[in-house]
This record gives sequence, C-alpha cells and structure tokens, in this order.
Amino acid sequence: MLLCKRLITATLFLFYFHCAYAQTGELYRYQDLSHLYYQKQQDSLKKAWTCPALYKQKATQKQYKELWDDRTDFLTKSIKDDDYVYDREVLSYIDTIVSQIVRANKQLIPVKPLVLIDRSAAVNAYAVGGNILAINLGLLAFTRSREDIAFTIAHELSHNILLHPETAMKQRAEWLTSDEYKSSMNAILDSKYERLTRLKKVFEGYSFNRSRHQRYHESDADSLAIVMLKKSNIAFDPTFFLRLDSADIQYKQPLKQPLQQYFSAYNIAIENAWLQKRSKGLSTRVYNFKDTTHIQDSLKTHPDCIERYSKTLNAGSTNTNFTQVPASIQEKARKMEIWNMYINMNLTACMYMILLEKDKGNKDPWYDFMVTNVITGLYYADRELSRFNAVGVTPKEYISKDYYQLQTMFEQVPREKLEQFCKTLLDNNQRANSKKDEAAFHRLMHALTLDADFSDSHKTSVAKVFINGNESSLYAEFAHKFDKP
Ligand SMILES: [Zn+2]
Repeated sequence: MLLCKRLITATLFLFYFHCAYAQTGELYRYQDLSHLYYQKQQDSLKKAWTCPALYKQKATQKQYKELWDDRTDFLTKSIKDDDYVYDREVLSYIDTIVSQIVRANKQLIPVKPLVLIDRSAAVNAYAVGGNILAINLGLLAFTRSREDIAFTIAHELSHNILLHPETAMKQRAEWLTSDEYKSSMNAILDSKYERLTRLKKVFEGYSFNRSRHQRYHESDADSLAIVMLKKSNIAFDPTFFLRLDSADIQYKQPLKQPLQQYFSAYNIAIENAWLQKRSKGLSTRVYNFKDTTHIQDSLKTHPDCIERYSKTLNAGSTNTNFTQVPASIQEKARKMEIWNMYINMNLTACMYMILLEKDKGNKDPWYDFMVTNVITGLYYADRELSRFNAVGVTPKEYISKDYYQLQTMFEQVPREKLEQFCKTLLDNNQRANSKKDEAAFHRLMHALTLDADFSDSHKTSVAKVFINGNESSLYAEFAHKFDKP
C-alpha cells in the first residue's frame, strides 16, 4: 500500500513539474538582445562614466583615464555585441533576490544596481564597478539554490561597494607610470641580450602582486557578502564553494549511452570509424581520460575554492532548507546557454549539452529542434570551409572520453554523409507540432545547406525570407548574420 501511494505521489509530482514548466513563457525575443534592449543604457553610460581627476601627475592621470575609458568601451561593446540578453522571467526572479539584499543594506547600497545577464556559458559572474554587475547564464544553469545565487550577487555587489574595480585601475595606472617600471623598461630597451626574458620578469613581478591583491579582494568580498546576506535573512551555504570547484568539469561528465544511440533516434547512422582519430600525429597520442578527473587548480575558472570554503565554514547557516531555483528558470537558462553556443558556432559543446539533457530524461522537443540545427549547422560550416572552427576543439583536460569522441566524429564525418543527414533531419523528421518560427528556421537551414546556390546574395535573400514574418523570433539573430557586411 505504501509503495502504491508513493508511486501516485511521484506521478503527481512529475505531472505538476511538467505543468509548471509548460506554463512558463517563451524564450526571449530578438528585441531583447542587448544591442536593442540596452541601447539607451549604452548611450547614457558613455555620458555618465566620466573619469574622475585623481592624480596631479599628468602621465598617471592620462594612464588612469585610458584604463577607465577601456572599461566603458568594454561594457558598451559587450552591449553592442549582444553579450547580454534581457529575459523578463529570469530577471524578475533575480530581482526578487537583489531587492531583498538592497532593502536590508540600504546604507551600503543606496541605489539599486543594474544586473545584466551575460550569455556566456562559463560558471561565473562579475562586477564592473559603478553599481553594475553581470551574472552569466552558465552560473544560473549551474546553481541549485536561491541562496547560491544570492551569495553570488552579494559577492559581486561587495566588489562594487569596496571599489575593487576602481582600485585595480588605479594600481595599474600607478604601476605603468612608476619610476620602477620606467627604469626597468629602459634597462630592457638598452640591453642587447635576453630582452624577452627580462621583459617577462617585469610583468611577472606585477602579476604576482596583482594576484596577491586579487586574493585579498576575493576574501574581502566573501566576508562582506556574508554580512549582507545575514542582514537580509538569506542563508549562506559554504558548500557552494565546493560545487564551484567542480564547475569546470561539466564536459567531463560521461554520457549514459554510446554515442551512436543518441543519433539513431533521428535515423542517423554513425559509423564506428568516425569515432577514432584516423591520422597519426601529436594530437593522437594515447590519452587516458580517467587520469584527470581533477583539473589542476591553476587551470580552473575558480581557483582557491577549497580555501574559501574553509575560511567561511563557520559563517554557514545551520539547519536551513535551501530554496530550489524554480525548474522553469533553470530550464530557460540552459536553453539560452545552448542557443548562445549555437549562435557562436561552438557546435560540439552545444551538442554535448543537449545529450546531457537527454540523459536527464528531458523529452522537450526543443532539444530535437536543436539537434537538427547542430547537424545542419555543421554541414553549413563545412560548405563555408570553416568546419574545424565550428567543431571548437576543447583541451583534453576539460573533457570526457565521450566528449572527445563526439568532437572526433564532428571532425571526421564525411561531408556527403553530413549532406545526407541534413536531408534526413530536414525532410523526413518534420515535427508535426513545431512552432511557426522553428519551422521557418528549418526552412532557412534547408536553403543554406541543400540549395545548389551558395552565393552570398542567395544566403542573404533566404535569410530575409526568415526575418520577414519572424522579426521577434530569437532565431532571427542567426538570420541577421547575413545582412551584416
Ligand atoms: Zn570575486
């Protein structure tokens, strides 16, 4: 009886989950990409961010202003390049967290910060100073609890409050105009031998100092973040650092099935020969993927995680139930992340993320739509003579044996076979319930891969056909690549 009841509850739970997920809105619109959505902010930022006069010495002030303007340019260029996206649902979720922290820490944060969603898949966030911070899609898809996201926000806010970005610019300006730097540079220019070695030494000295400072900065930002969270009544979970420590091993996660099986579901037959590197060379030397389950600390996106964990262990909240991030938010972050990999033509990583979703039992047809896009995208890249770039070779230290196999297959599948796969996927596998813009996107891919005409003017005209009628579809981003010179 107990078992039966449990089964029913489990089914209901799944059903509820599915409903909650189906009810949530669409992915963002094309107009929500930052070059359109944040256009005004981009312009006002340029006006608002004037470099303060800090130094009497002209050279130092000039150097400082250069670095200051570089930061403004970095942000405005990122907005222009669509590195950010405005997704109302995800941002309003983040906003509830930001508001809670700001309300409880009015003295430290008098003005609500501008939070941007960076489309990068890297599990990270960053502060740019001037009350602006960015959270990567990779981090949103990776974190499990609302508290983890809150800590990340509080940590980045702390960098801004403690003026870390400004301090870093000041230190660099002072160093580049210091007598010590100038005299060591002059000595190098005068010397006839070993210029490069000497030059390296000068920079090493600086970066060592810098990384030491950075460590203090991280530690200070962690401490202030914990204080702010406490005031906001948000629990802090130090084990977040341990999870961050393994953030780089996403692609090291093995697949549950042999590679062929995922593709046979789409009537695509993968030959064994494509999975083995054919040529003998440096890159084919035998490599044992099992040897490197741990990535060296220096290669990690987040070094010192263990240290940060032990430093903050005592500040951790006890007996707390952490709040799960809503499945709809994580699902959206994951999809946006996958689309971004696609638009950057990072096709192996994109496909691997899709296969990992399949392993979770995800039956959402959107991922099938994307499988077709990746395979047709690969063939399109081949026609463009840029297949190698689209495969996006990732160093072995970061990937699993299965990832390596997929990468090898993407490199080696013959182009006639790819063409055949495109036909199979685009002609035979028409999804009965596919959305209007998804169907139109596949028609675009059909034209780009299977039309005999591969001239630029043809590509532009088929892209225009997609844009007319799908102006607000996020997939228009791909089509717009063809109307740029
Ligand atoms: Zn930090």
